[in-house]
Amino acid sequence: MKMINIENLLRENIKRLKPYSSARDEYSGKIGIFLDANENSFGSIPAGDLNRYPDPHQNEIKKKLSKIKNVNIKNIFIGNGSDEAIDLLMRAFCAPGKESILIMPPTYGMYKVAADINDVNVIEVPLTSEFKIKTDEVINNITSNTKLIFICSPNNPSGNLLDRNSIRTILKSFNGLVVIDEAYIDFAPEESWISELESFNNIVVLQTFSKAWGLANIRVGIAYGNEEIISVMNKIKYPYNVNGVSQQIIIDALESESKKNEVVNKIIYQRDKLADALSTLDIIENIYSTDANFILAKVNDANRVYDYLLENRIIVRNRSNIINCEECLRFTVGTEEENNKLIEILSKYGE
Ligand SMILES: *Cc1c(COP(=O)(O)O)cnc(C)c1O
Repeated sequence: MKMINIENLLRENIKRLKPYSSARDEYSGKIGIFLDANENSFGSIPAGDLNRYPDPHQNEIKKKLSKIKNVNIKNIFIGNGSDEAIDLLMRAFCAPGKESILIMPPTYGMYKVAADINDVNVIEVPLTSEFKIKTDEVINNITSNTKLIFICSPNNPSGNLLDRNSIRTILKSFNGLVVIDEAYIDFAPEESWISELESFNNIVVLQTFSKAWGLANIRVGIAYGNEEIISVMNKIKYPYNVNGVSQQIIIDALESESKKNEVVNKIIYQRDKLADALSTLDIIENIYSTDANFILAKVNDANRVYDYLLENRIIVRNRSNIINCEECLRFTVGTEEENNKLIEILSKYGE
């Protein structure tokens, strides 16, 4: 097992931090007359029993996830979307104005935005034109101030899984944290890096309820990692970071894993059909292979095709101004009807 010293990686102020202790931290029992948190004892004004603060530790969710994923509760962080986990990792480990993260564009935009907000430097080592990791270049660009490396696999916006051996090499050579964002892992034919938590104490795996589970609206994301990392994230999060309505929906949803898997299979079927249909169109110059619920395609005059689709009330993501995605549009897989409509409209382009 690879062991790095996590305590040493932390920002000094975080090492010293004494966290806020909420009313529900000081008494966590469920039975009694609760006169400790200045809640409204008469109930919530709208119907729905919303007057009490939610569980700050999201224990019910963690217990269920722990069984499903075969991970100890102490290795699970639940956040207000994975975006919260990204921000917390930055705030815990990267000293503003001094330390850095490393990212591999084209990739998810939030890593750089969260770094910019926290005044953390961003080292960019772009993927190759085939969206593969430049492993040696990544390792050569790490400095003594680099704390986090973000790897998005399957990668957004390209859609492909990144090479396991490259990721393993980075994990072995880097003495900071490697954050593997698996927002799209349910759509991919590979297993999660969660299975490697025992082998490397410097992995953090991000997953989310926003994609395969269809729960983007209620903002729940997950980070899996070493106990020390997870406990720091819990220490610095807002005390009640995931609201109780969202928690209850997740607790119920976790009873329906098989339904999630069925829907994922439908999406994969539609994705492959959509890729085939797109590839028959003259304006499509290349379809990149995807392991996610979207397709990146190189298009003849992406900006014009994008505007043409908008005129027809079809909204896709124009990625043509980002590195290695010149003339590319990103298509989220829709329902069968939506995909058929997309193909019908695209096939009339230029008529
Ligand atoms: C959609 C997406 C997420 C999800 O973020 P949430 O805050 O959990 O909704 C995370 N990472 C990537 C790469 C994504 O594309």
